[in-house]
Parts: sequence; structure tokens; C-alpha cells
Amino acid sequence: MEEKTIFKRIIDKEIPSNIVYEDELCLAFHDVSPQAPVHVLVIPKTTKLRSLDDVTEDDVQLIGHIFAVIREVARQLGIADGGYRVVSNCGEHACQTVPHLHFHLIGGRDFTWPPG
Ligand code: AMP
Repeated sequence: MEEKTIFKRIIDKEIPSNIVYEDELCLAFHDVSPQAPVHVLVIPKTTKLRSLDDVTEDDVQLIGHIFAVIREVARQLGIADGGYRVVSNCGEHACQTVPHLHFHLIGGRDFTWPPG
């Protein structure tokens, strides 16, 4: 059996996290190393999606739900009015470090473009 990722251990409550939203499909919690005043990770509970590159038509409903949750969490944390950024690092070149699909919701400051 494959070793659990850190995010699976967070889902299973084996390690603590600062959860801001949870339902049967997904979990949102503060990033341990925030890159902005608000930096939350929104993840599906399923372990079958290691990155965006694993997403297929079968996952349309789940991914849509996650984006609706991102919108709600942005409101809950007070960053919706000023604008925010949603990032999903996919694979080695994009610096993905945890092989469990996740979306960074970051806000509370101005960002630049292009990203680094
Ligand atoms: P990525 O580099 O896109 O794979 O993002 C992984 C993110 O997970 C990074 O921003 C880390 O700071 C964050 N992270 C790693 N371990 C934890 C943890 N135990 N609790 C919260 N966030 C974490």
C-alpha cells in the first residue's frame, strides 16, 4: 500500500491543521507556510487525484464543488472584495510538493504577474 501523503493524514485527523471548511467531499485548511495574509489549501478527500493532471470528465462534479467552496471560503475569510488568486501547482516543473490535488487560495495583498 502507498504511504499516506501529509494531506491524507490531515484528512484523517492524524495530524493537526487549522480547518476553515469541511464537508463529505473536501477540506479547507490554512497553509502552514502562508505566502499571503490569507493562504488556504482546498483539497478533495479522495486520494485518487494526485494532481490536476489526473482530473477527467468523471471528476467534473467534484471539481465544480471545490470551486464553489473556494468562493465561499474567500467570502468567509474576507478576501472576496479585494480579489484573490487560486493556484494549483501541477507536477515537478510547477513545484508541486504534495502529490494530492490541492488548490491554493491566496489573498489579502496585491499579487504580480507573471508568477515566478
Ligand atoms: P505545493 O507546493 O503546491 O504542492 O503545495 C503544498 C503546500 O502544502 C505548501 O504551500 C506547504 O506549505 C503546505 N503544507 C505542507 N504541509 C502542511 C501542513 N502540515 N499543514 C498545512 N499546510 C501544509
